[in-house]
Amino acid sequence: MDADKKIPEPLPLMSLKVTPFLSYRHACACVEGLIEAGRKAYSVAINPEKIYQAEHDRELADLINGARICICDGIGAALAVRVLHGRALTRITGVALFFELVKKAAEKGWKIYLLGASPESNQGAYEALLAKHPGLKIVGRHDGYFEDSGKIVEDVNRSRADILFVALGSPKQEQWIAGHREVIDAPFCMGVGGTFDVVSGRVKWAPAVCRKTGTEWLYRLVSEPKRWRRQLALPKFLWLLLRYKLAGKKK
Ligand code: UDP
Repeated sequence: MDADKKIPEPLPLMSLKVTPFLSYRHACACVEGLIEAGRKAYSVAINPEKIYQAEHDRELADLINGARICICDGIGAALAVRVLHGRALTRITGVALFFELVKKAAEKGWKIYLLGASPESNQGAYEALLAKHPGLKIVGRHDGYFEDSGKIVEDVNRSRADILFVALGSPKQEQWIAGHREVIDAPFCMGVGGTFDVVSGRVKWAPAVCRKTGTEWLYRLVSEPKRWRRQLALPKFLWLLLRYKLAGKKK
């Protein structure tokens, strides 16, 4: 396998871990390697909320740690790497990686399946992606409000998708992917949270200045104030990080 398709060793990050990709190009090359190898793998996005939850929920930590790829999604996770490992890590956000992988899928002819979000958002994301990449092979899709997971798995397998994107929010999507990973044929599954809402235009992607400065969370708090409860994890996460640092622990 080409050197740049080899997934780097993860860095331990409290109860979780992150994959130190050098760039989006590097992350996409590693996904390509996984697809070529045909081995079953999944990817999750690491952020302060998940780190904090996983610290108190062993089961959640285990299923997140079952992921082959753990992207350093938020500024909080990057800060924790800086504090505990003393190194700067390139952030790889879920939304941007999704866009990069879709572009690569269109070039390579990979088949993708879109699972999750409301029926309108799922349909909107489908249309927007096809408008941008007319040759893209979207071989199946389903909204995220289903009862029978078995039927979804059958449909995904029938589609012979190479990548299954799962947008059910956290931690539901991580639980769903880990719980069904063995029976899904697609080599690569990726949890993408609210990405289809962004792609369909229902939610605005944080402006470039916020993406550059890592303040997407602030943009989200201001534009969707009802999510403030979720952001309560941030100060708790910072306190946890400080405790790890003072104890000289990384994991
Ligand atoms: N969602 C879904 N099924 C569910 C719960 C949520 O498809 O049972 C979708 C929801 O419509 C939204 C996404 O999951 O599109 C969650 O978005 P959010 O931005 O909250 O993701 P997170 O921040 O949790 O990654």
